[in-house]
This record gives sequence, C-alpha cells and structure tokens, in this order.
Amino acid sequence: MIPVLVVLNAGSSSLKFQLFEREGDAEPRLTCKGAFDGLGGAARFIARDAGGVTLGENAWAPEAGFGHEEALMHLVSWLREHQGGRQLAAIGHRVVHGGEAFTGPVLVDDEVIRTLESLSPLAPLHQPHNLAPIRIVRRRLPSLPQVACFDTAFHRTQPDLATLFALPREVRDRGVRRYGFHGLSYDYIASVLKEYDPRLAAGRVVVAHLGNGASLCALRAGVSIATTMGLSALDGLPMGTRCGAMDPGAVFFMLREMKLTPDAAERMLYSHSGLLGVSGLSNDMRVLREQAAENPDARRAINLFVYRITREVGSLVAALGGLDGLVFTAGIGENDAATRAEVSARLAWTGMTLDDAANKAGGPLISSGAGPGAWVIPTNEELVIARQTSSVLRTARARLAS
Ligand code: AMP
Repeated sequence: MIPVLVVLNAGSSSLKFQLFEREGDAEPRLTCKGAFDGLGGAARFIARDAGGVTLGENAWAPEAGFGHEEALMHLVSWLREHQGGRQLAAIGHRVVHGGEAFTGPVLVDDEVIRTLESLSPLAPLHQPHNLAPIRIVRRRLPSLPQVACFDTAFHRTQPDLATLFALPREVRDRGVRRYGFHGLSYDYIASVLKEYDPRLAAGRVVVAHLGNGASLCALRAGVSIATTMGLSALDGLPMGTRCGAMDPGAVFFMLREMKLTPDAAERMLYSHSGLLGVSGLSNDMRVLREQAAENPDARRAINLFVYRITREVGSLVAALGGLDGLVFTAGIGENDAATRAEVSARLAWTGMTLDDAANKAGGPLISSGAGPGAWVIPTNEELVIARQTSSVLRTARARLAS
C-alpha cells in the first residue's frame, strides 16, 4: 500500500484538500486536489486529479446540515473508495498561528490542541477554523496522526529587534510581539530559489506574497530576517479586505467617537477594509483592474496597494542592507503583470529594470540589466505542509524505533 498524506486548509465555510503520495524520503507527489465549499449551507464537493480531470463531485441541499464534520467523513470514505491501493498515513493541517510555543511543525495531541486553542485570540478569524477539523479528526479517527504546520514558524529566525513592539515589558511577556505570517509560502519560495538563481539563494531577497492576504518577507540566504505582518495577520500591506498597517490611534477613534464595539471594529479591519474598503467595489484585483479606467476609487485602491508595497519594500531593503532580488508570488503576484510593472517602476531607485515583454509573459525572470533581479515564482504552500508532515512522521517513527 502506498502511504498518502492529506493536506487540509480549513476556512469558515470551506475545506480545501490535496492528496500527496509519499514513498520513503522522496519529495511528496501531488495526486489529487479538491474542495468543499458552502459548508453549513448549500455544500459542494469537487475532487480533481493532478492534471485537472474531475474525479468526483457532490452537492447537498442546505437542509442536509452538511458542515465540516460531514465533509471530513465524506472525504475519508471517498478516499477509501477512490484511491485504491493507498493508505491514509496522516493529515497535515495549515494552522495560522503557532505563537511562541511552536517554532516548527508538531504532531498533534490533546496538549497541542489546548495550546493552539489558547492562541485563538491572536488570530480570531482564522485559528478557530483551522482547529475545527483537527478536533473532529482527533475525536472521530483518534489513531490517525495529525501534524499542525504553522504560518508563523518560518519567521522564528527573525532577530529579537525585528520582533519587538515598543511597548512595556508586561505586554511583551503576554506574547504581544511581531510573529509574521505566510511562512509556508516563504518556506516554499526559499526552498526553490537556487533552481532560479544560486545568487538569490545566497543573497538578499524580498519576497512579495500578494494574494487576498498580502505580506513581504526579507530573506537573507533563504532565512527570514523581517516581515511586514506582526502579531496578527492585519499588519503590513493593505490586503483584499484587511487594512494593513495603521495608526493604533485610529482604532481608539473608531471605538470612542464612532461608538463601534471591539467586535465591530475588528470585523471592519479584517473584512471590510483594504482594497474592498478603499474601492467600495471589490477585494478582487481582477475586478479593480477592469474598472480602474472609469472608476477613480478602484484606481485609488490599486494605487494605495502599489504605494504601500513599495514603501514596505524600501523598509525591508534597509533591514537587509541592500537588495539582490525581488520575487512576486501568490494570486496577484503571479498573475497581475500590471501590479508587477507598477511596483517595479516605483523601485527603479534600487537599480531594478523591468523587462516589459518578460513581465507580460509571466517570467520567471522579468528584469534585465545588472541591478537586482525581479522574478515571478509560483508558490506552493500545500507542498510545504506535505513535506513538513512527512518529516514529522519520519522523526516520530525513528523515535519509536529507537
Ligand atoms: P490568492 O489569495 O493567492 O488566491 O490571490 C487572490 C487574488 O489574486 C485576488 O485579488 C485575485 O483577483 C488575484 N488574481 C488572481 N488571478 C488574477 C489575474 N489573472 N489577474 C489579476 N489578479 C488576479
């Protein structure tokens, strides 16, 4: 039987999965991917093979009450029926916050679950959804190994100064510091830099993860030394619906003068701000690009996004003491040549020169000349979860055997 790993990424009403075969120490190999969405309402399931051919589809009426637990059980029985000759070896979960407790992937037990629950206030809109399937699997399939893989862990290498807020000691002692996120994506990019250019792997690189969530990471020789996100996934760049860095005084204004409750203010900053808030139109870059010529608010939202990216790149170049390369990744970074061109134009001071034709063609190298290189590299967070899950299983087996 070939062992397979399931990689899960759970949201409030969705559950995305990928299936990887794992043979010995070889790189895990993607065999199937899919998603449940509309969970808790009109739920749908689709699974496709690695080439995109549909392998299975289902839909449930809202009255069926099909939620995360039903989805997980459906997935396990679907795998048993459709993935003959393969044995479910473990589940790897994307977990947004590992706090100070977890600086690498961890095999889940009840104590780990309790610690992860205690971190929910640091990522209130993500962590509870990440934990739900972990608890369900622990209850329904207690002998199946589960591994939690963290978005924060890659940034454990940041120097102490890069993690500090200028706040009193007692606040720092409660864990209020800069952690950073999108670590699974940065881990993947760092792992493949040498395939694009060995000088990047050894040098000073800013990675721009520009998706619905967006952040930047400064890599020195493939190691994170600074990043734009902080305690929560709200900090740094403006995002699809999140505000990015702002004056904390604005929050007090919203609470005192606008009489928002803390919950309402939090919802505004997470779900109604960013590109959506500024444009009043959409969080989707494709929609904003389509409307930008006629709609000044759409243009303004894009302009702010680009301006903030370039300002933050400048800050990370200062932390790195120079720049050898800039990597664009995630939905906008990989697909939106116009954003890449606008960001690169504002970074001409670094000596970077965009190659327009290469940029329109999607790269991977989209610059020319002797200055810092600009690159487009597709990310693969799920592969990093599969790698980490595989490695945790190997270590656990070796420990049992010794
Ligand atoms: P992600 O969170 O990585 O899936 O990225 C989602 C973002 O990528 C959304 O703002 C999409 O509009 C954007 N995106 C995806 N494809 C394209 C595209 N072809 N052109 C511009 N933006 C895109």
